[in-house]
Amino acid sequence: MADQPNILVVGAGIIGASIAWHLAGRGARVTVIDAGEPGGVATRNSWAWINASWGNPEPYFRLRVHGMEEWRRLERALPTVRVAWTGSLNWELPADRLEAFVAQHAAWGYDVRCVDRAQAARIEPNLADPPGLAVHAPREGAVEPLDVTRQLLSAARERGVTLVAGRIARSIDVHAGRITGVGPDAGHLAADMVVVAAGAGAAELVATAGPVLPVSAPPAVLAATKPLPRLLNGLIMTPDLQLRQTADGRLVAAASADAAVDVLATMRALFRPNVTMDLDFQVAGRRPIPNDRLPLVGRAVGLDGLYVAVTHSGVTLAPAVGSMVAEEIVAGRRHPLLEPFGLARP
Ligand SMILES: Cc1cc2nc3c(=O)[nH]c(=O)nc-3n(C[C@H](O)[C@H](O)[C@H](O)COP(=O)(O)OP(=O)(O)OC[C@H]3O[C@@H](n4cnc5c(N)ncnc54)[C@H](O)[C@@H]3O)c2cc1C
Repeated sequence: MADQPNILVVGAGIIGASIAWHLAGRGARVTVIDAGEPGGVATRNSWAWINASWGNPEPYFRLRVHGMEEWRRLERALPTVRVAWTGSLNWELPADRLEAFVAQHAAWGYDVRCVDRAQAARIEPNLADPPGLAVHAPREGAVEPLDVTRQLLSAARERGVTLVAGRIARSIDVHAGRITGVGPDAGHLAADMVVVAAGAGAAELVATAGPVLPVSAPPAVLAATKPLPRLLNGLIMTPDLQLRQTADGRLVAAASADAAVDVLATMRALFRPNVTMDLDFQVAGRRPIPNDRLPLVGRAVGLDGLYVAVTHSGVTLAPAVGSMVAEEIVAGRRHPLLEPFGLARP
């Protein structure tokens, strides 16, 4: 469509892939460039829990609930996308905080309840020492994040999106207050609009046009075992790590890099002693996190043609953010749930 703006998305992680697919679905002309392999950096090392769990202010909780619903829309639109809607069992917090979390979130309408040791053992029968108190959230789930991102990129290409891998956007080019494109290694790539979905690389790139993005990228550990017989029915969050089991039987763990947890020993200790397991890999990923821990999604102020989408919990939010960003760029309507999360905080 020649009258459509030419949109350049920087970043082919789950956020950029979702934005590109949704934009193309609205008829936009889209090119995605990525410095590396399509599939992202944080995305490929993500634990990929889809949730609206504890610790967030209500507007962000509401956005995350919408994010969970939007995964169901994506499953219907792309039948190869499959979410494992297994639910979660969470005892990562002390009992009083778990109870406060349930009281608050149940009042907000979230499907969540406290369970005792016997109930926890029925939900996860292979735990060696089920928690005395845990929170069960039956509607949460997880995806294989790299698979989904590749599926989104492939579906985007079917919609006419051009994908350019292995090209770094070093600068955002501006003329008379308007974005004209990006300056990758091999010259200028022209665009009417640049959407920066570059995760941990976003702040450095956006700074070349002026705006300062308050984003950091602390390390986080992701580890996976070799395939095992079924040990877990759903996701679990313990005080030391978070754990789920993939469809092919791997236990996948996420832990804070500061905690210096021996991931394999901690995983083994969770199950009965006759379970043997070996690590397949362990990596230190980086999770892009805006400094106030809330999404940064919106137009840059005072620069025509620059849009930024950086968030933590990007797996939970990817279908929602993709759809909302496309609607805002193409139709000019900003989704009310996104209102508090622009670049200029209210
Ligand atoms: C260990 C771990 C566990 C996590 N657990 C969860 C979870 O349970 N649930 C959840 O929802 N989220 C989780 N997250 C966070 C989630 O994975 C991220 O929020 C999400 O993947 C971010 O996606 P993204 O596309 O913005 O970034 P990325 O996947 O990092 O993609 C950004 C892309 O931009 C490219 N890029 C960067 N700079 C440039 C440039 N200048 N030019 C060209 N390309 C560039 C990079 O090469 C990369 O491919 C976790 C993250 C980690 C690391």
